[in-house]
Amino acid sequence: MATPEQALALVLRLVDFSETSVILTLFTREFGKVRGLAKGGRRLKGPFESALDLLALVRIVFLRKSSDALDLLTEAKLERRFRPRDRDLSSLYAGYYVAELLNELTDDYDPHPQLFDAAVQTLHALHQTAGPPVESLVLRFELTTLGLLGHLPSWRECVECGAAVANSGRVAFGQLSGGVLCNECRRGKKQVVSVSASVIQTLARFADPADVTWSQTVVDRRVQGELRAVLNHYLANLLGHKPRMWEYLAKISS
Ligand SMILES: [Zn+2]
Repeated sequence: MATPEQALALVLRLVDFSETSVILTLFTREFGKVRGLAKGGRRLKGPFESALDLLALVRIVFLRKSSDALDLLTEAKLERRFRPRDRDLSSLYAGYYVAELLNELTDDYDPHPQLFDAAVQTLHALHQTAGPPVESLVLRFELTTLGLLGHLPSWRECVECGAAVANSGRVAFGQLSGGVLCNECRRGKKQVVSVSASVIQTLARFADPADVTWSQTVVDRRVQGELRAVLNHYLANLLGHKPRMWEYLAKISS
């Protein structure tokens, strides 16, 4: 008999299994991504108390199963429901996008507590009307995620040879290499785009865990357009496809 595990979790995905049961994908602080069956998860009363909503923060108890069987969720207690900003659909879609990135970029039972905390913080900020703009929260979360999972592009040194790359005028960014390129290394490379230095500077600032100015930064519309083009291409390459939520997040998919 498996011993019950306890965890703090975000609900990333819910799929109905029967009239009352549901299969969940959860991102837990302690264990990383976990998939489990909640028997009676759709009932209003019982061990789940209707806590199982998309993006809800819940305390769970579950039984870990052997490799190919689903884990069994036995209890869930609601800590906080995700609530988007009033009359702002983009904050709702941004929340779904957080879930999509966590689901796609992390592996089962590969814990990333800092990423978990960043996701919880982002979801909380997406509710606060006075908080940073949705596109800034999304950008900060994307770059934090890339950083914590070891996928962050190189902004200042050539990703191929390590030489310092001047951050002025236009800079060569290698989509496949994953970072800026010096004049020597850019030659003959495929999928190299020329981007303005201010785009690279903005990306580097939002990616820097120590930076506290990002939330007050208003990204110029022209910079935002170019920045999204570069980052979207990079993310789509990494995932192998375009995230589904881009279609709904007009300001980041332009
Ligand atoms: Zn180089």
